Amino acid sequence: MSYKPNLFGLGSGSLKTLAEAAGQPVFRANQLFEWLYKKRVSSLDEMTNLPKAWRAALAESHVIQHLEYTRKLQSEDGSVKYIFQLDDGSEIESVYMPMAKGVTLCLSSQVGCAQACSFCLTAKMGFIRNLSAAEIMGQITAIMKDQTFDAPFNVVMMGMGEPLLNLAQLQVSLEVMTAGLGLSPKRITVSTSGHVRNLEKLAVGPVVPRIAISLNASTDEQRNELMPVNLKWDIQTLMDTCRALPIKARERITFEYVLIDQFNDSDADAKRLTKWVRGIRCKVNLIPFNETESLSYRQPPLARIQRFHELLNRAGVVNTIRWSKGRDIGAACGQLARPTAREGARLRAH
Ligand code: SF4
Repeated sequence: MSYKPNLFGLGSGSLKTLAEAAGQPVFRANQLFEWLYKKRVSSLDEMTNLPKAWRAALAESHVIQHLEYTRKLQSEDGSVKYIFQLDDGSEIESVYMPMAKGVTLCLSSQVGCAQACSFCLTAKMGFIRNLSAAEIMGQITAIMKDQTFDAPFNVVMMGMGEPLLNLAQLQVSLEVMTAGLGLSPKRITVSTSGHVRNLEKLAVGPVVPRIAISLNASTDEQRNELMPVNLKWDIQTLMDTCRALPIKARERITFEYVLIDQFNDSDADAKRLTKWVRGIRCKVNLIPFNETESLSYRQPPLARIQRFHELLNRAGVVNTIRWSKGRDIGAACGQLARPTAREGARLRAH
């Protein structure tokens, strides 16, 4: 069977190249973009304002293929975890979360992850591969097909993978989410473990989303243990980079801080965290650790979580306690993980 590339997932630049190669004017590429992403048709026959001959040629050389989920798990709190099996047998997960202020979709950017954060189940998969823009966008369109919710919605790139290590496909996806689906960049948050070089690239566009930094520690010693990326770019370097990012006047960087019992939840941690974020227009999301059997970290007692929150408040640091959604279906922060194709085969064989 001969492989045909997918039109769905190509950004405007690639569509323009396709049109030019076929001797079509540029506006035809814009029309194709609209059919693919605004109208989301699944066949070239439906693209009635494109010349018939070009449609036939495109049908010969390309397919339009949308991702479909293979399984979904419904949480008591209303969130739904979607599992997708990709063409190579790999699996990824995404989460639909109905929130007080509308729907948020949490998407994956890679199969597995190379960042090896010690508090995260995805890390245990190791890195398998980057997702294509079609696979990133396909998570959205599959969920949109399954759920009825009003646009606009929010997207957080906080599922499996480090999005900034898949920057090219992420940027195509950002273009499609904004120009195609009509989402404001303010509704899209890209969360990074702190890949400083690519963070600087992301912050200058072409589409600049909201930025979240997974910080999780108040000392390098702690962060080295939790997030090996810190050995390359320590907290000082990360903070200096954040301070220098061209963040718009009314925007804030979000710092995520997973609170772990007797590890990073002391009064001294709150004090150090306050110092680190001083001078950065930001807010801090405190995420009580989601316990799982395979990780030894524990969630701090409620009183400690509240005290940490209170200490930041007193120091004037804007912060919120974020209780993860979907804990009963393994969809909470740090809980997304699929068996690798090899492990899956082994599991299925038993
Ligand atoms: S927390 Fe994010 S960056 Fe770290 S291993 Fe998990 S998915 Fe990767």
